[in-house]
Amino acid sequence: MDIHEHQAKDLLKRFGMPVPDGGIAFAPEQAMHEARKLGFPVVVKAQVHAGGRGAAGGVKLCQSEAEVSAFALSLLGRNLVTKQTDAGGKPVHRLLVEQATDIGKELYLGLVLDRKSERIMIVASREGGMEIEDLAEEQPDALIRMVIDPAVGLAPFQSRELAFGLGMAGAQVAQFATVLRACYRAFRDQDATMVEINPLVITGSGDLVALDAKMSFDTNALFRRPEVAALRDPGQEDPREDAAAEHGLSYVGLEGDIGCIINGAGLAMATMDMIQLAGGQPANFLDIGGGASAERVVAAFRTVLSDPNVSVILVNIFAGINRCDWVAAGVVQAYRDLNLTLPVVVRLAGTNVEEGRQIIIESGLPLLSADTLAEAAATAVAARPRMAA
Ligand code: ADP
Ligand code: MG
Repeated sequence: MDIHEHQAKDLLKRFGMPVPDGGIAFAPEQAMHEARKLGFPVVVKAQVHAGGRGAAGGVKLCQSEAEVSAFALSLLGRNLVTKQTDAGGKPVHRLLVEQATDIGKELYLGLVLDRKSERIMIVASREGGMEIEDLAEEQPDALIRMVIDPAVGLAPFQSRELAFGLGMAGAQVAQFATVLRACYRAFRDQDATMVEINPLVITGSGDLVALDAKMSFDTNALFRRPEVAALRDPGQEDPREDAAAEHGLSYVGLEGDIGCIINGAGLAMATMDMIQLAGGQPANFLDIGGGASAERVVAAFRTVLSDPNVSVILVNIFAGINRCDWVAAGVVQAYRDLNLTLPVVVRLAGTNVEEGRQIIIESGLPLLSADTLAEAAATAVAARPRMAA
């Protein structure tokens, strides 16, 4: 689960992170009020769950109340499209108004869960402001990586080594220890999966300040982090994912036009690969889970069809815990209840496969059947209306 920049800054501040003073605003008047309290110039920042806001016009240095008001008016209620969002962007419903900081140098600092070493890894660079993905690609040597031993915790020598690696000297080395400790403790104590300070700046007077902050949390740990769970902003999430979760479905919307209804995450991934191999693009990832009732299959059809780009549906079931006859009954019911007109490809295998196929045949519906995964993918790609191809 992701949170907003202002929430991450508030949380990190409690662990000792130096951040600019600022306030949150949901309306232009409120933004002006916050700006007046701080004194000009201020920086006004769109709060969305995505980076790249600066380059997308979501961050602005403002010298007057009029400027703050105009900028707030232009952003609030609109969607901000950045390099990290899809083409639709993310809705802007709140702004962070903060002190403009005199930037001497922009650095990068991130903490991630490194799956290989099963430890928290620190990634730092003298090249702040750039996206880490671009940095890793263009200047891999500019990245410093360091793993934290959970039995020891963050060791003082590690902070010093990183501070020197980032070109710091004197009092900055001690300040950096405070910054890094705040990141590490917030990460560990709040079950985070990512903390990113980009940029961490050295101000004109030589002090360290976190100008941007991003945090993600382990959803499986939210039950024991009610304070973190309360920071959730459903407005930033794909509503289809939530609706799907209510029916026990895992759904992730993608950009293609072949809607997928699959059981098992592994088979879903394999099916998406096969669709691409056959020359098509999946519209979504969807795992209907084990023991899928006909009702759940219908809910899966509804979810997939809520994406207007879908032109074909591919149902691929390898029934172990599931039963092909239940799924087949669900497909037939969905076809009738939802008045489907688009092509539906069905591939059934596993438990009760014969009963399942019988239900499909007896339904008399124009369902396209396939025996193998490869055949199913190829049939779905071929069944697309020519316009979408
Ligand atoms: P994003 O990563 O989404 O583009 P940032 O918070 O990193 O958003 O802001 C983009 C850039 O705007 C920063 O790299 C920094 O140069 C500038 N900036 C952000 N906040 C401030 C601030 N409080 N004072 C001065 N400049 C800022
Ligand atoms: Mg940033």
